[in-house]
Amino acid sequence: MSPQAVAPPAPAQTPGAGIPRPPATANELRIAGMVPYSSVDWPGKLALSVFCQGCPWKCLYCHNHDIIDPRKPGSVPWEKVRSLLSRRTGLLDAIVFSGGEACLQRALVPAAREAKEMGFLVGLHTCGAYPKRLAELLSARLVDWVGFDLKASPAGYPELVGRAHAWRPVAASLGALVASEVAYEVRMTVTPGLVAQVPQVLSVAAQAGVAEVVLQQARADGAPTALREALRDSPGWDGVFSRAVASTRNDFPALVIRERPAQ
Ligand code: SF4
Repeated sequence: MSPQAVAPPAPAQTPGAGIPRPPATANELRIAGMVPYSSVDWPGKLALSVFCQGCPWKCLYCHNHDIIDPRKPGSVPWEKVRSLLSRRTGLLDAIVFSGGEACLQRALVPAAREAKEMGFLVGLHTCGAYPKRLAELLSARLVDWVGFDLKASPAGYPELVGRAHAWRPVAASLGALVASEVAYEVRMTVTPGLVAQVPQVLSVAAQAGVAEVVLQQARADGAPTALREALRDSPGWDGVFSRAVASTRNDFPALVIRERPAQ
């Protein structure tokens, strides 16, 4: 700088800017509900399932509307989960973090770490909206199994989940999961509105290196009103679903079929 040059004024400081946030603690995890014994959230394992508050999406078939608001506080303190786990050592195999979208919360990481330190396996359900948090959990080996929802074809995501560009983080999350050595299940919930996308979803899965895909046939029992009506308006839904599966078997032989309400 020449002697005559005037130094530009220092940029105004935003209060708090540049100050790193303190690490999250497990006690901050906002939990909307829990199921003390579940045999369905991680196939083959008996787990305590925790439903984390908040989700960035609004899937057309979501029946968890009460827990998708990310600003809502939780209703179950982590302390209660910790206390239940400590009394069930040897009775439970695992804890499963579900949602909502569990990866939305920073506190998921210390909560998973605490459960591992208590000797439990850790399972996670995710829609893949937060690839960085998922990668952090995978690389630190804080999860032992991931149930990954591959919901639609890449082009079908915005309409289904109500977010433009929703596919990009899902693709990054799926890539990180397949590249990790963590066990996983990739599943698609097939509704009448999504059945035409099954071949593209299987193609995306195959390209990503996924060996097996679970197709869950949406059923009316327990489904939200909009989906119940869509199923009611789709006569012969069982046949439509069976034909869709049969027509893709040659391209993707490793299909598992499951019947359950959409979620
Ligand atoms: S179905 Fe899952 S990913 Fe979709 S809005 Fe509901 S909680 Fe979120």
